Amino acid sequence: MAQVAHNSRLAALLTCVALLGALPRIVHAEWYKRTDAIMGTRIFVELWDTDEARGQAAIDAVMTEMRRIDDLMSHYKPESELSKINQHAAEGPVQVDKELFDLIKLSTHYSEITQGAFDITYASVGYMYDFPEHKRPSEDQIKAALPAVNWRNMKFDDARHTVFFEHKGMHIDLGGIGKGYAVDRGIDILQKRGIQHAVVTAGGDTRIIGDHMGRDWLVAIRHPDDPNKVVTRIPLKDAAMSTSGDYERYFDENGVRYHHIIDPKTGHSARKVRSATIIGPTATQTDGMSKTAFVLGPEKALEIINRMPEYDAVFVDPTGKVFYSNGLRPAEPRPADAQK
Ligand code: ADP
Ligand code: MG
Repeated sequence: MAQVAHNSRLAALLTCVALLGALPRIVHAEWYKRTDAIMGTRIFVELWDTDEARGQAAIDAVMTEMRRIDDLMSHYKPESELSKINQHAAEGPVQVDKELFDLIKLSTHYSEITQGAFDITYASVGYMYDFPEHKRPSEDQIKAALPAVNWRNMKFDDARHTVFFEHKGMHIDLGGIGKGYAVDRGIDILQKRGIQHAVVTAGGDTRIIGDHMGRDWLVAIRHPDDPNKVVTRIPLKDAAMSTSGDYERYFDENGVRYHHIIDPKTGHSARKVRSATIIGPTATQTDGMSKTAFVLGPEKALEIINRMPEYDAVFVDPTGKVFYSNGLRPAEPRPADAQK
């Protein structure tokens, strides 16, 4: 695991307004929770069960699944299927595991709907950044690598599950969608075991099933500069939420912040917002959409989100201004002379 673990974030702020409410009817039921470090990030699982052994076994199963996905998709592990693609796909079509093939192909759907803001081939430039080491590519290195960034240059053969890079020097990295996908797989495992109330978080990606003792979960969006300050709280149940922030993996140099969300058009860190939160049905979807506003800016990203009724969004721009999608916009203040 070459990455540093993320700071505690969203899941740590998950609170419940009903926690102090009435005692549960089934006296032996309890919340079981665990935090682990997998996929270079913090994994958090919390669930409600009447049987401790069953609850713990369900958490075990989710963690095991996260490790399986990491082994398959990590670009830090030279033996992973994903690394095999990066090593050989520019030479000719590489046959890959069907699950990985499907996720890589699905990533192009998000490239399409985000006008190229989401692009897993960003890694053709992105691999030259090392944030913990304060390393970034020179302008010349970026210029040389940038032509390899283009999701349209990945070619797929559906029958044989092959991926081919049409451009030399192409690299892919699923860091922008893999955690959301892993969260959905974890939730799927819990649902198959009959769990009805749970939250699973991987880094910035969270999905919730059910409510929290009769009330919505209340999820906080932190201030980009202060983990203890809350921008807003959003009630959620049976929903996913992804937050991307320029404060997660970064270094500052001469007053400029170099961080992990890269504009595929320029090869530089994307700076049009400081934080972007997307709410939607699944974590794969919200993860695939949470980088958009960094690259396109809050207005354009809102246009996209507002056209898709299953999504909502909250963005914080560099001046601290907060943008809400139509579904979340706080009510306009009533004019003083309005009828009651
Ligand atoms: P987290 O990993 O905590 O869930 P994000 O969802 O914000 O964080 O994803 C950031 C990651 O997405 C980066 O670390 C990188 O791996 C990847 N990435 C960066 N820029 C892009 C981009 N333009 N398109 C797709 N993926 C990207
Ligand atoms: Mg994410």
